[in-house]
Amino acid sequence: MANYQDQVETLPGVGPKRAEALHALNIFTIEDLVTYYPYRYEDLAVRTPQESLDGDKVTFKGIVSTPAVVRRFGKRSQTYFGLMVDQANIRVNFFNQPWLAKNIVVDQELAVYGTYNAAKASLTGIKLVTASSDELAAIYPASKEINAKTIQNLIELAWSQVRGTLPSLVPASIRNKYRLLDRNQQVEWMQFPPDPYHAKQARRSTAFEEFYIFQMRLQLLKLSDQSFAGEEIKVNLQRWQAFKDQLPFKLTTAQERVVGEILNDQQRPLHMNRLLQGDVGSGKTVVAALAMYAVVTAGLQATLMAPTEILAQQHAQGLAKLFDQAGVDLRVELLTAGLKTSQRRQILADLEVGDIDILIGTHALLQPDVHFHHLGLVVIDEQHRFGVNQRSKLREGGVNPDVLAMTATPIPRTLSITAYGEMDISIIDQLPAGRKPIETRWLNHGQLDLALAFMAEQLAQGAQAYVVAPLIEESEVLDVQNAQAVAIQLTESFPKYQVGLLHGRLSNAEKQALMADFKANRIQILVATTVVEVGVDVANASLMLILDADRFGLAQLHQLRGRVGRGERQSYAFLIADPKTDYGRARLEAMVATNDGFKLAEEDLKLRGPGDILGTKQSGVPEFRVGDPIKDLTMLTIAQQEAIATVEESAWDNQEENQALVAYLSQSMAQYRHFD
Ligand code: ADP
Ligand code: MG
Repeated sequence: MANYQDQVETLPGVGPKRAEALHALNIFTIEDLVTYYPYRYEDLAVRTPQESLDGDKVTFKGIVSTPAVVRRFGKRSQTYFGLMVDQANIRVNFFNQPWLAKNIVVDQELAVYGTYNAAKASLTGIKLVTASSDELAAIYPASKEINAKTIQNLIELAWSQVRGTLPSLVPASIRNKYRLLDRNQQVEWMQFPPDPYHAKQARRSTAFEEFYIFQMRLQLLKLSDQSFAGEEIKVNLQRWQAFKDQLPFKLTTAQERVVGEILNDQQRPLHMNRLLQGDVGSGKTVVAALAMYAVVTAGLQATLMAPTEILAQQHAQGLAKLFDQAGVDLRVELLTAGLKTSQRRQILADLEVGDIDILIGTHALLQPDVHFHHLGLVVIDEQHRFGVNQRSKLREGGVNPDVLAMTATPIPRTLSITAYGEMDISIIDQLPAGRKPIETRWLNHGQLDLALAFMAEQLAQGAQAYVVAPLIEESEVLDVQNAQAVAIQLTESFPKYQVGLLHGRLSNAEKQALMADFKANRIQILVATTVVEVGVDVANASLMLILDADRFGLAQLHQLRGRVGRGERQSYAFLIADPKTDYGRARLEAMVATNDGFKLAEEDLKLRGPGDILGTKQSGVPEFRVGDPIKDLTMLTIAQQEAIATVEESAWDNQEENQALVAYLSQSMAQYRHFD
């Protein structure tokens, strides 16, 4: 008798070659084998033509009425015969299986599984079946080295040996609560379901088990991450509060809440790893400022990393001003690639002795010669712009500083509890008071004049405008607007106003000067490529015109639109596009329908699937074998809550009902660590 933990090689009929083929499918133990689930089932229950719909996959049973004829066309062939099924004569066609003809005997009973064509009263045969009444045939993912039938036979054999012996991984209390099957029942009905109802029951339990195990792993990773070298930051609350009282505006309730969550984390002796999510314009920067200042009052340093030079510069200026206005004395420096060697050397020297409190920069912060005196906090702005590696690089920098990652790309629930599952999440779900929702219009190219006329009115009232064009130079390949041509055209159409052109080929100094001019209203119309996409903050700009808007993704469009709607003025976004695809239309419709970044992100996820949201590689969404993190989101959420509840119980890993789970996790976590 085999044990479920035995290697597959112990099964009769599994030699080295077969074992290798199984290993390639990640099947090592008998347990792996019996939990190698079919990806679908075929319903082989016999049916009549009357109860079948066109295109159904069905099994018909009848009497062969005409002998099989084989027609050959070169290498291909067609085999057809008549089958009397329930008074109807069905023509059965098999393609490229001429050897079947010898099994077709007139006047004999025969059952065929295939695709039904109602109009032609025909069945395109898939296989001849032994007609039993109720049968679901499991279909397995197979490989070139081992076919589905062999896998199925091995599973049957293995299951006959270990049936009834598998311990349940999901604790009994949780199974009872959600009416989940015990693991033996679950495996049995996954592999050999008596009918679709039981298959569904088994799938539900299996998906939950999969989500729960996944969430348990995340919770354990989180615990181990927190437990090493976290630092309790001795915030000077009096000084911190004094700064907060001097801010130029009152924080929103949502900002107050997340500031509290972060401060709480910082003062605990555990390591903070927190994701701050807030829609564009929700005011994440000031939250970061408070978190950084908290660290500074404790005598430590903080750093803020931004994805672009423009943004880093804007942050350096903005934060310096914020602290200055509040009468706070600290030193903020900017480290970018464009610094002179002597300047850079000076900054690095000052940083190392602790003379700089807050260092702001781009990737340049990741250079190996950047050494902090005592780094207490890393803030990563627009974190979705950074690769996973860069995130962890900053985390390794010297000690184990707290990490606050900020993103304006709202992360749908599915992703936040899978891809970002190891982080704590704070959400700013509110915009500062007095913001008027941006009005968004979608116009086609023929209506561009309407948008320009409207722009003229707005400019006359003192507003400023962004005009976004996708590329900076004419390209034969892509029929896109040319930002330079657009700028020239606008200069002609709006002679009273200054037009600026911002694109990626400008030097940093040029970009900085342009942004400063726009901020100071020396430029009224800023034509730009997507350089303005993230973070740029000019409150008086209230009009956004996006040309060829259908060339942008939904998240990008929302980011672009978020550049306006930041001040007291009513803001407008015009999307100029003649989309050619349904997907293109769907994106524009979604933009017009809502300003809510979370809703748009959910929509985007539905339109594109999770892999694409952050780029397949970076999305980090794990592949589940049975559960679907989008369709089964509610279940995924519950699995997360239950996993949190499990690890929060004291000595959970010593409890009787958790023993199988603990054994399973410690084995698989050992593997997981090995990969890192
Ligand atoms: P984002 O979350 O997109 O990074 P910012 O931090 O750039 O947003 O903030 C957008 C604008 O809102 C800034 O001009 C900022 O000064 C302002 N702001 C932030 N919080 C508040 C508030 N509570 N009340 C009023 N204005 C605020
Ligand atoms: Mg920002």
